[in-house]
Amino acid sequence: TTTMPILEVTGLSVRYGKVEALHGAALKVAPGQIVSVIGPNGAGKSTLLNAVMGALPVTGHAKGSVRYRGEEVGAVPIEKRVARGMCLVPEKRELFATMSVEDNLVLGAYRRKRAGERDFLDQLGPVFDLFPRLKERRKQAAGTLSGGERQMLAVGRALMGKPDLLMLDEPSLGLAPLIVKEIFHIIARLKGTGVATLLIEQNARAALQISDYGYVLETGELALEGPADELARNPRVIETYLGLA
Ligand code: ATP
Repeated sequence: TTTMPILEVTGLSVRYGKVEALHGAALKVAPGQIVSVIGPNGAGKSTLLNAVMGALPVTGHAKGSVRYRGEEVGAVPIEKRVARGMCLVPEKRELFATMSVEDNLVLGAYRRKRAGERDFLDQLGPVFDLFPRLKERRKQAAGTLSGGERQMLAVGRALMGKPDLLMLDEPSLGLAPLIVKEIFHIIARLKGTGVATLLIEQNARAALQISDYGYVLETGELALEGPADELARNPRVIETYLGLA
């Protein structure tokens, strides 16, 4: 028997005006898996995530199929996708700089509060367990955090909403290698909690290390795919994406 993928994308194309940024992309994420999409700058990685989430810039136009838990969500507005458990942590972390760490986290549970869930703050403890640094800094304004801490806060805030599918746009961007290691270690630990993760990364080495499956996106097309460990041993991947890292 095969389990139904939590996410299944087929024939997804996106254009910005005359420019096609994504061409016929197809990918799957099974429940509880970490799947990464690696590829160079401008390959269309953010476009892919935004199209899956329904959050393309107004200039963007998507066609193709996005099925979430077996249902087509192409026409479903973003708030409803969030309510169903899809969550995107964008490349620009979009935190509230003047608000405290804790208040940013509480905002992440807003949807659950509005939905009338009485235990909407029940993830605060687990998120602080996952990110002890956020706990230490919970009264500190988000805008005064380091880059790595801000990324932790963005992921922590997403987890407050108890997503089933967490989509992360370049969590390693602009971070020092040790912090990247720390954050990826935490993402890997999330697997145990049952959330599925779709990870978009330029840091192919770090991404493939924690992933079950991977895709390589090159100029708008998914050029290669495979189990992450196999992909990491593929000579073309090594030469192009792992050689210098
Ligand atoms: P990066 O890692 O640099 O963010 P990426 O792989 O995420 O790159 P995208 O941001 O998805 O790539 O961009 C893919 C292509 O689409 C690029 O050529 C980019 O210039 C173009 N593009 C992205 N957003 C828009 C937009 N709003 N309007 C027009 N073109 C866009």
